Amino acid sequence: MLAFFLIFSLIASPSHANGKHDFIFEVSSGDAFYKFFYKTGLSAKLLTKLIASDKSAQNLNKIYPGDKFRIILNDKHGLEQIIFSPVNSSPLYISYENNKFRFNNENNQPKGRLSHKTIIIDKSLNYDAKKAGIDAEIVKLMVDNFSWEIDFSRDLRKGDKFILSWDGEKKPHAMIYVNNKKIIALFGYKNNLGQKIYYTAEGYTLNDSFTFAPVKYSRISSRFTLRRLHPTLKVYRPHRGTDFVAPSGTPIYAPAKGVIKYTKTLNGYGNVIYLKHGSELLTVYAHLSNFAKGLKPGKRISKGALIGYVGSTGASTGPHLHYEIRINGVHQDAEKVKLPSKLLVPKSEMAEFQSQAKDTLISLGIKPRF
Ligand SMILES: [Zn+2]
Repeated sequence: MLAFFLIFSLIASPSHANGKHDFIFEVSSGDAFYKFFYKTGLSAKLLTKLIASDKSAQNLNKIYPGDKFRIILNDKHGLEQIIFSPVNSSPLYISYENNKFRFNNENNQPKGRLSHKTIIIDKSLNYDAKKAGIDAEIVKLMVDNFSWEIDFSRDLRKGDKFILSWDGEKKPHAMIYVNNKKIIALFGYKNNLGQKIYYTAEGYTLNDSFTFAPVKYSRISSRFTLRRLHPTLKVYRPHRGTDFVAPSGTPIYAPAKGVIKYTKTLNGYGNVIYLKHGSELLTVYAHLSNFAKGLKPGKRISKGALIGYVGSTGASTGPHLHYEIRINGVHQDAEKVKLPSKLLVPKSEMAEFQSQAKDTLISLGIKPRF
């Protein structure tokens, strides 16, 4: 124990941490809690106080690879809450208020009164949400989640509604889209790090998981690089995609659900498909010999659906698929990028989740159909 105190009193902590307020750390072998604590910009003095404040604090020194910490700071970069989620036991919630630490095995942040707001679409989500008094941050949250099912540039009609419901926290605990044909209801539910994630009533997130390669390939002939000797132009050029070698005519399948942005025939890319996934992700498929039938802008594509065939159109030296992944317009290395995955409410919490979801719908006057 003495050694532990010596170590953390010797390490200077940074005075600030780039305006970030919500930190998540996963323990690797050789890690210690104080390292995470200092990374957030908090002081050695506060750490000493924390460790001395309660005997449960000793648990923070007994950490194992895979355990997780979430450290939340307030707007003034003061400590607000620490959530320690060990792999093998229940989470520990430590909140810091009025210069006092409180330790809990439950996240008993007070539940506030229920409230709700309805956005009725007249011009656009942004415009009508602002009129309804909804923060831009919440609008972004809506777009990030619903974009996997709703194409905001095409699908919204006058009179469509978004109902948002709150239970005292900043992020809504339910977001519901209603048009004359369907309802898409999303319910916020916290994971073991205390992050609110939005699930359908069936308990899954609207986003999809991605398969690695959209085609059955023999090898990767060109990897993602910002500097390579171009095979035909003989100059150094970045290659912002991954080239999968496969015979001409090999089918290409969507790696995740999405919406066709457009198909084009371009000089460099040849026959190319742009496929959107949610609000931030775009995949690109170039040099195709042919497109699948019926692709047009706005067409919804399910995961694994046929979209085209490998070819060598455009500036290509032989049949291959040139595949790109872009996040918010920035090219990513398909072999390294971490893409979102579809999440499920844990089985053991499903009954509790669905009963909360039902209560929420009933409180909003919507009849639950699950
Ligand atoms: Zn390429």
